[in-house]
Amino acid sequence: MKTLIVANWKMNPQTAKEAKKLFDAVKKGAKNKNTDIVICPPFVYLPLLKGLPLGAQNIFWEEKGAFTGEICAAQLKDLKIKYVIIGHSERRKYFGETNEQINKKIKKALDRDINPIFCIGETLEENRAEKKSEVLERQITEGLHGVSKFEIQNSKLVIAYEPVWAIGTGQNCSVDETLKSMLLIRKIISNMYNRELADDMKMLYGGSVNSKNSAEYIKGGGVSGLLVGGASLDAQEFISIIKSI
Ligand code: PEP
Repeated sequence: MKTLIVANWKMNPQTAKEAKKLFDAVKKGAKNKNTDIVICPPFVYLPLLKGLPLGAQNIFWEEKGAFTGEICAAQLKDLKIKYVIIGHSERRKYFGETNEQINKKIKKALDRDINPIFCIGETLEENRAEKKSEVLERQITEGLHGVSKFEIQNSKLVIAYEPVWAIGTGQNCSVDETLKSMLLIRKIISNMYNRELADDMKMLYGGSVNSKNSAEYIKGGGVSGLLVGGASLDAQEFISIIKSI
């Protein structure tokens, strides 16, 4: 199975010219037959970038209509977008996204054959209070509520474990703790569906990944790939991450 490396550009860069320059540099340098690469730029750059699979950073659950500022599944499909990040901790924190809303977004994406990259992860306070298992279980069961085994098997739904305290802080989660979290997530999925589906599901780690720590996660973290934020904005650094796999 190929390793999946997803770049989350967040609200960067500031101009289309810079976005194209970054994208072209990655496209040129990022050749590794062991990896699949997905670039998730801001919506406005999606139609401008060609030659690597693209993902969106959000989706709305309604079909169309009076929802100012939102982007629907049909609009993403029209641009041949394959993936969408759903439930990123920044959306949960700054835009108050709930598990229930995330669930509606996941269902809409699956319904339109767009693969959700479903982000979960505990905050520092939850981690310190030893509530990680409880938080992950709630995020997964509520996020996937009503999603059938069949829908998951027929999609490439990916779970991204991103401890909130590790995102953009330089404090990456240890490989051992990542492995424990991956086993826990697979157990939750196995209880909800079955063991086979849990074993087959792609799971990413995200949180302060760089070219120095990337290979360790693939070797010992029990992950099928990585979700890279800050380091994906530097073409050379992102290429080094891909080459480290
Ligand atoms: C992210 O925002 O998904 C992320 C993993 O960010 P960073 O790599 O900067 O920690």
